[in-house]
Amino acid sequence: MTTVSESVSSAPARPLKRSPVYPKAVSGVIRQAKWAILIVCLAIYYVVPWIRWDRGAGKPHQAVLFDLASQRFYIFSIELWPQDIWLLVVAMIAAAIALFLVSSIVGRVWCGYACPQTIWTDLFMLVERRIEGDRNARMKRDAKPLTFDKAWRKIAKDLAWVVIAFWTGGAATMYFANAPTIVETFWTGNADSNVYIATALLTAATYFMAGWTRSEYFCSYMCPWPRFQFAMSDEQTMSVTYRTWRGEPRGKGKAVRGNLGDCIDCASCVHVCPVGIDIRDGLQGECINCGLCMDACNHVMARTGRDPWLISWDSTANLQARTEGKPPVPFRFKRTRTVFYTVALVALSLFMAGALVERPLLKIVAEHDRAPLYVPLPGGGVRNAYTLHIANKVADAGNIRLTVHGIPGAVLSTEAQRANALDALLLPVPADDNGEFRVFVTIPSQAAVSTGSISLTAERLSDRAKAETSAVFMTGHKL
Ligand code: SF4
Ligand code: SF4
Repeated sequence: MTTVSESVSSAPARPLKRSPVYPKAVSGVIRQAKWAILIVCLAIYYVVPWIRWDRGAGKPHQAVLFDLASQRFYIFSIELWPQDIWLLVVAMIAAAIALFLVSSIVGRVWCGYACPQTIWTDLFMLVERRIEGDRNARMKRDAKPLTFDKAWRKIAKDLAWVVIAFWTGGAATMYFANAPTIVETFWTGNADSNVYIATALLTAATYFMAGWTRSEYFCSYMCPWPRFQFAMSDEQTMSVTYRTWRGEPRGKGKAVRGNLGDCIDCASCVHVCPVGIDIRDGLQGECINCGLCMDACNHVMARTGRDPWLISWDSTANLQARTEGKPPVPFRFKRTRTVFYTVALVALSLFMAGALVERPLLKIVAEHDRAPLYVPLPGGGVRNAYTLHIANKVADAGNIRLTVHGIPGAVLSTEAQRANALDALLLPVPADDNGEFRVFVTIPSQAAVSTGSISLTAERLSDRAKAETSAVFMTGHKL
């Protein structure tokens, strides 16, 4: 009896030079699900830059905009400043953990259904079939010398691919500038040269990746994910699996089966595979878990009057048990790795949501002058100078009230009014912008006893939001 490990290790060695793969069209529930996911993902990608979002006067009205020029990322009602980029990093880590979790449950489902490489490859193959025909027609035509029929079909297909690739590359640039403006300036020749360069590069990348490397080469040789993927999987991970215990021993012929299994060795599952492998060879690194072989085999099972799902989602543990004639092993979600990924994902999501809600919309940073460190004044007083950076992260231009604490008698002044020191200063900071101010802190002679620490408090008068920073105050006397 064939064991699972034997089934895996008995897979034939992959030839160094592969024959081109001609995936056959297939219909079925999996194919329908893949089309639905493809339509949703493409619609999101192409439509999102066109969604408008009212942020008030002077602000961009694009819902999702990565405005590199003004150093702001807008994601619907969220506005991220350069200081907030760490939130995006945390979001990416959370997304990676979510991918680990999904992969530990259902294997390479991301690769088979939602990866951009798979989605655009599927789209390009759809165009190819419409123009060049299905597997057999393409194989026959490619084996023949160049004819007019072959030439126009190849040219038409490539032109269609370039149009889709151009549309895809152009859409990407719209995430970085106002979409209607990009379109208008692009076609009138007034767009920034970076827009033309980025569109050209992304068009070429899409055309090459989806049209030529496809899943066949990209997923098997270029993408690092399959190498990591195996670290996420265990014997409970559900993968697209050929049920050897049902299918073997395989043999051709529909009527007299004798002791043969359900597999009639028709190779339909191989012909539809976008990476050109035989799922019956066991679990393979090239398999992207797209499930199209399940649809193909289900048709065969229906035609031969057998139960569907000879190829199905299954775990290695169950496959091994059934192959050895033991009772089925039910799927178990709760495993060390799934619990760990779930806890990590929930914790990170909560942390990120809290950080997003609580992130300060007013910030102050003080830089002490390096030279001179302090200025002794006539009469015994001491003055220190600071450069203040105040970030006003709201849509209202704000008067910021600055006060100083920590050393009794300390007063504030600016470059323009050094002689007129006050308990508080009013500093104007534009809406959604940074303000930079040179400010002096002076203490009277009787208080100038030692170097110490002060705190500077900024208060936005419009909503009473406060931010504080500490700084050293130098006097020349040691603490
Ligand atoms: S499609 Fe099904 S029956 Fe045909 S070769 Fe594949 S597993 Fe066997
Ligand atoms: S073996 Fe099946 S699931 Fe794996 S890539 Fe091929 S068609 Fe998709």
